[in-house]
Amino acid sequence: MPLNYIANAFVPSSSGRTIPMIDPSDGQPFDEIQRSNAQDIDAAVRAARQCYDGVWSKLAAAERSRLLMRLAEKIAEHGEELAALEQRDCGKPTKQARADAIALVRYFEFYAGACDKLHGETIPYQNGYSVFTWREPHGVTGHIVPWNYPMQIFGRCVGGALAAGNVCVVKPSEDACLSLLRVAELAAEAGFPAGAINIVTGYGHEVGDALARHPGIDHLSFTGSPKVGTLIQQAAAERHCPVTLELGGKSPQIVFADADLDQAIPAIVNAIVQNAGQTCSAGSRLLVEQSIYEPLLERLATVFEDLRVGPASMDLDLGPLIRATQQQRVWDFLSDAHSADIPIVAQGRVVEEAPETGYYQAPTLLRDVPVQHRLAQEEVFGPVLASMAFRDEEHAVELANATQFGLVAGVWTRDGARQFRMARNVRSGQVFINNYGAGGGVELPFGGVKSSGHGREKGFEALYGFTVLKTVAVRHG
Ligand code: NAD
Repeated sequence: MPLNYIANAFVPSSSGRTIPMIDPSDGQPFDEIQRSNAQDIDAAVRAARQCYDGVWSKLAAAERSRLLMRLAEKIAEHGEELAALEQRDCGKPTKQARADAIALVRYFEFYAGACDKLHGETIPYQNGYSVFTWREPHGVTGHIVPWNYPMQIFGRCVGGALAAGNVCVVKPSEDACLSLLRVAELAAEAGFPAGAINIVTGYGHEVGDALARHPGIDHLSFTGSPKVGTLIQQAAAERHCPVTLELGGKSPQIVFADADLDQAIPAIVNAIVQNAGQTCSAGSRLLVEQSIYEPLLERLATVFEDLRVGPASMDLDLGPLIRATQQQRVWDFLSDAHSADIPIVAQGRVVEEAPETGYYQAPTLLRDVPVQHRLAQEEVFGPVLASMAFRDEEHAVELANATQFGLVAGVWTRDGARQFRMARNVRSGQVFINNYGAGGGVELPFGGVKSSGHGREKGFEALYGFTVLKTVAVRHG
């Protein structure tokens, strides 16, 4: 049975309680994790503090860099094993689980290279002074991680925090944590000192809440739903703890009449089908210029009808959704679409081999979704693409910006000037022109505006969030 990982050792929760792990492919329990509590969080924070004060804060940046690179190598050696763990937990098709393990390697490689490149500045001031800045780590950082991409999200937040000189206490999702427990063990094998990476499993309202409120946490990074993000921000505000929030999205794919549709169509489909639509940056709204609305929907319909959904191990286009409540959520959205007479253009198919007890959902293309309908406003977090037509560029921008979210946008046009105007006028953290990176490479800063959150992870920019700037003014006569 998987245990918590604190100070480089597997330990049971002091609660003596567990949570069953369910395989989304058949809805059956296959293991149990620790249902931890505030006491376990306290033990993890204490181990982290001891590590920080004792060994970690005294390591040279180049030594941290070598540790991160050794961990990247270990992850690469165990890539298949990690992918298999995450596949079981999340129901991901094999190719997706493997891609996530490779991304985790890339995060640690990237951040290994960044450790010793975090410079301060010198600032011209009055005669007789030397003024400069240092970028110092926060100290003990807390990381609350969702279930949809555990390895990738661990890589971007824990990799960045460690590179900047922090130690970490991680609360993975109760629905998917096995890969991260194994990564923590690999970190110890790579030479990370006890307490640098600690993992405590359990429910969000119990152990996640305890982490967010713990006075020993110096910075919080939260990735998850806007609803829980609000609670985290409130808990952090109680003690003025800095927080990075990576929340949801309702990202538009905007297609103009002059777009290269051969290039756009596979990207539009992939952006809503990847991970069964359970992706923060899913391209879940399709905005199409009126003159090509019908032909584009026709072509998309053909692709959607060919999509196959089935057990993770069959490695089809889509695996199952994470759990029964998520499946019910998608059904509720589709039932609302039906009540509002929103037409279904096309659906994929769940294969016969899929057990009835698994959480399967056929990918669904909807048309003429009214901009104020909840299908055009709220995150479904399933493979449902809501399409609508626009008249001109101004209307496209108006529709693109007409939600509370602003995470990612895709723009498809050959017009160079319009590419720049759209990139400027769409309110989101990332804009992809004639591609849809669905989060992009590990090098690219990522994060939202509006209810999609604040702060940036990934890329070099993340390191600024995981440090505090200290100004030093020396008067030398
Ligand atoms: P969630 O908000 O339910 O849970 C996220 C994490 O928070 C889990 O570990 C959970 O246990 C914990 N949690 C739940 N309640 C808590 C509480 N009261 N206090 C502290 N912690 C608590 O989200 P989810 O269902 O796991 O993930 C899906 C959501 O995450 C979607 O909204 C998606 O868009 C978002 N997401 C965002 C990004 C991004 O980078 N912007 C990436 C992935 C997922």
